[in-house]
Amino acid sequence: MSLNFCSLSSGSSGNCYYIGNGFQGILIDAGISATSIRRFLGSINVSLQTIMAVFISHNHSDHIKGLEVLIRKNHIPVFTTENIWKSISPRNRISSDCVREIPLEQIVHLAGFDIEVFKVSHDAPETIGFHISFGDKKITIATDLGYICQTSAKYIKEANLLVIESNYDEELLTNGGYPEFLKARIKSDKGHLANHQSSEFLAGIINEGLSHICLAHLSKNNNTPEHALATLENTLRVKGIITENGPKIVVLKRNVPSEMITIGN
Ligand SMILES: [Zn+2]
Ligand SMILES: [Zn+2]
Repeated sequence: MSLNFCSLSSGSSGNCYYIGNGFQGILIDAGISATSIRRFLGSINVSLQTIMAVFISHNHSDHIKGLEVLIRKNHIPVFTTENIWKSISPRNRISSDCVREIPLEQIVHLAGFDIEVFKVSHDAPETIGFHISFGDKKITIATDLGYICQTSAKYIKEANLLVIESNYDEELLTNGGYPEFLKARIKSDKGHLANHQSSEFLAGIINEGLSHICLAHLSKNNNTPEHALATLENTLRVKGIITENGPKIVVLKRNVPSEMITIGN
């Protein structure tokens, strides 16, 4: 049994991830246009007709921009928590028949996947991460979080493929042109994870089961793929963690799909 992952877009301008099992798939977030979602899925030979659900992490526009059109045109059900659904502004234009409210930290069975959602710390009314199992393979997605709480850590540690936020480089943000209040918001416990925060956490949890680390949700203005990768590699080197046979590290691109990553056989 194999589990496929592809990031269609990842970053502060728009987020959408595809997870498939060879037959059916789901999307996590719809923060790019419905047209781009269809086109990007086509580029990896996935038809929208095989998408059984779109899960929504929170109400920020970089996660829901394409949702309304995607649902109206394709009648794909939306899965999210009651609190998140209530906080989404286009909900009045989406038929409630399309919505499935799901509980926190309980397994939802869908298209052969077992899916659990868990709360993360972020400045939206509610924000969730995702833990998706297919057979014995597991993907955890945790982006848009100011720090890694115990619950998030539990799900992150179980992942074979981990999508984790590496939003900003501390120096680029501190010395950049953002107003002070915004810098403070991004750095806060309800903001985003810095390169050094995710790197230090990863250094503490790398284990044999972890085959892929995808650094995600990079800021356009306060980060670069090179900064994110160098921070993680340097942190692992300084702490003496050998990565030659360790997890493959991928930095997800902002506006184009990643390679399709398959875990399992
Ligand atoms: Zn975001
Ligand atoms: Zn957000």
